Amino acid sequence: MKCKRCRKAQAAVELPSHHSAFCPECFFVFFRRQVTEGIRKFSLLSREDRVLVCVSGGKDSLVLWDILMELGYETEGLYIDLGIPGYSERSREKVLAFAGPRGKEPLVVDLGREGVPIPEAARRSRKEECAVCGTVKRYFFNRIAAERGFTVVATGHNLDDEAARLLGNLLHWQEEHLARQHPLLPETGGGLVRKVKPLWRVSERETASYGFLKGIDYVLEECPMSVDATSLVYKEALTLLEEEMPGTRIRFYHGFLEGKEALLRRLPEAATALHRPGGASHDAEEEESGDARGSCAACGAPSFAETCSYCRLRERVLHGRTKAGGR
Ligand code: SF4
Ligand code: ZN
Repeated sequence: MKCKRCRKAQAAVELPSHHSAFCPECFFVFFRRQVTEGIRKFSLLSREDRVLVCVSGGKDSLVLWDILMELGYETEGLYIDLGIPGYSERSREKVLAFAGPRGKEPLVVDLGREGVPIPEAARRSRKEECAVCGTVKRYFFNRIAAERGFTVVATGHNLDDEAARLLGNLLHWQEEHLARQHPLLPETGGGLVRKVKPLWRVSERETASYGFLKGIDYVLEECPMSVDATSLVYKEALTLLEEEMPGTRIRFYHGFLEGKEALLRRLPEAATALHRPGGASHDAEEEESGDARGSCAACGAPSFAETCSYCRLRERVLHGRTKAGGR
């Protein structure tokens, strides 16, 4: 099949959702346009921004870092070593191997050294690994951004991630989560940095193709903690729908965002509820959701309670270790 854009070269990437197929060069043009349009639509980034890109060693975050550099944004990478034996070492190697030739040295936070490796922190706090991981990652995104003067934090969530999250939120009528779901989380008065998802318009298949054609070497295995993640079930369900009806995913997620924007235009008072829902949100999301009421007594980070959820978690882990005699 010939490329549908240049009509000369052989197509290398077929995209049924866009009724298209591209040769590598034209696919790069398409991909760049998608990301640029995703950034422009919600003013996610500006040329003045210092962008902290959270890289896990997986394809999406490395592709994000690559394209933001290519688009000329000022970026640095942040790698959080989760302390998951084997997987974390392999992921870190990929991040370093990506950054080195591009003249970058990623910032590294080692959760083992910080006293909160995810598997142990989950065990001692009796919480799900992913919930603990979310709390810890959000904490370090904000802390590193504040300490190092970054204006925005960017993560590699793609269209598949966001559509799966939307489906889960709808199926369970998670109103607060629906209110918060957006490629842009503005910074808050409480000192929480702006967070953006510049890849929200591109699918997993498109980021994988971009990574492959660009020769980006990433960790192929999924995080071992993700095996039971319900998000994978929602992803599978959407993949089935997408195969039967190409374009479903982008229409689903884009329609949701458009609906939200329309509601904001019609009901300005809804803006507060949709963009800064606070109130009843629990621990793990509180740092993400709105104005913190004060500063953590232990670390000084923005916090809803006297001590922030990260410091409370760390305290529980250290306390558990002492009780167990260091085991
Ligand atoms: Fe963290 Fe869970 Fe994702 Fe693994 S799967 S990186 S533990 S949120
Ligand atoms: Zn704290």
